[in-house]
Amino acid sequence: MHRRVDIKRNDTVKVITGRDKGKQGRVLRVFPDKAKVLVEHVMMVKKSVRPNPQRNIKGGIAEQESPVSISNVMIVCPTCGPSRIGHEVRSEKRVRICRRCKAPLDK
Ligand SMILES: [Zn+2]
Repeated sequence: MHRRVDIKRNDTVKVITGRDKGKQGRVLRVFPDKAKVLVEHVMMVKKSVRPNPQRNIKGGIAEQESPVSISNVMIVCPTCGPSRIGHEVRSEKRVRICRRCKAPLDK
């Protein structure tokens, strides 16, 4: 079954379950095939970086986001906070709206 992914890049989402529960951040990338999103400052993992003097990269440990499942996040409505995404047709265009306050989520 193909599930539509309603979360888009630059949306603000809140993590509702898992290690980073309660954290909020901007969506950096969406992986529709995996139903996952990469959220700024969420699910940080340490990665070791090899030094590369030619590119002026010091070796060591760097932190990087790793993808979280879309079912573990909720969209954050600018007006009323964490909410669900609804849809509505406005001026013949299908838009994403906040299900709670009906405000459009796209500008
Ligand atoms: Zn709302």
